Amino acid sequence: MADHASSGRRASDSGAVEPRMWTPVVDQHATWIAVNPVQGCPKKCTYCFLNERGQAAVPPKHLVSAEESVELLVNSSFYGPLRPVALYTWTDVMALPASRAHLADLLEELVRQQVRNPVVLITKCHVPDETIEVINAARHRGVTVLVYLSYSGLGRDIERGIRHDAIAENFPRLAEAGIPIVHYWRPAFPESADLERMRIVLGHAARYARCTVAAGLKVEKGALARLAQVWPELATTAGVIEAEGVYPRGFWEFIHRTWQRHPGYPLFHTNSCALAYVLGRPDFFGVFGSQVCRMRNYCPIAQRERCTVADAERIPPTAADVRAALARRALGEAPFTLAEDGRELVIDAVVDTNLAAALTQDLGVRVRVVRDDADAYWSSGTAGATPVIVG
Ligand code: SF4
Repeated sequence: MADHASSGRRASDSGAVEPRMWTPVVDQHATWIAVNPVQGCPKKCTYCFLNERGQAAVPPKHLVSAEESVELLVNSSFYGPLRPVALYTWTDVMALPASRAHLADLLEELVRQQVRNPVVLITKCHVPDETIEVINAARHRGVTVLVYLSYSGLGRDIERGIRHDAIAENFPRLAEAGIPIVHYWRPAFPESADLERMRIVLGHAARYARCTVAAGLKVEKGALARLAQVWPELATTAGVIEAEGVYPRGFWEFIHRTWQRHPGYPLFHTNSCALAYVLGRPDFFGVFGSQVCRMRNYCPIAQRERCTVADAERIPPTAADVRAALARRALGEAPFTLAEDGRELVIDAVVDTNLAAALTQDLGVRVRVVRDDADAYWSSGTAGATPVIVG
């Protein structure tokens, strides 16, 4: 992650961070490989990590072509043919025609090179009809595309530049076109943790989406003062920076009881489980049997059966398997223990979050590591961080 860092950053008079920081075009995030050929977002959501990187409220920059993007992806050390791939996580690809044109080229390139990884697109902008057609053209030629619709009941004070009526309208439009939708419900602020507002959000999503992924607010050290302007308790609550996510209590309680309102509608607290469910796969992130699996995720019976069968057939990695996997990630000397019947790997060394996430998929186990405070990634539940509930 070293190339995330950019020296000599300073705040301009407008408060924007300069210069812009760039992320590698291909990198491993907690659940998916992220591919970012276009970086920078014209929108400016208060909670967005791009604010700290000088990449919010800026014109998106096209760094590499669609063809180069696919080449970088398949040649990356993080690549595996089954691994989920999220495109354009450092911009909102639906925001501008040029970004959508890049997406059209990239989907075409995935078709042409017969890359069949599941593809995730995440947006809170209007998805135009012609882009729906582009997505479906790729789907009909063998590329699995899921669209995560960010819809959290927040106002324009927090999600600046976002048209919330357009987000809501995306749901029936994409569902009508047969595109699998995951409702991305994150983050929540006290203003959106209002019971009526949460009922409306969930009710709308449950009509059209395959499932909801609910998550808290990620709080980086550099963002704390800014975020505390809209949520003052953040400044006085211990552990918010280390947390997997921070949740207003009302939201936390609501998202753990959605089954009462929508009994047939799944809600996950782990993105990997939502993907497993929509893709018809068992868990391969070491979540099965964990407290999140048993107590928090509202996971359908058929999916639980799928994971149960896969777990019964699973052969846990041996110490030699782990040593070989660590060596492949240049962590050959790191001391480790295998815990919980081979379901959890504890590495007693500082390991970058992207490598820990890659090891999770290499071995199919949860991975706990000593976190590097300079790591450009925020704390991840996949890497062992826990939630903080406020209120
Ligand atoms: S059974 Fe557990 S591990 Fe499997 S998808 Fe459901 S919640 Fe996740």
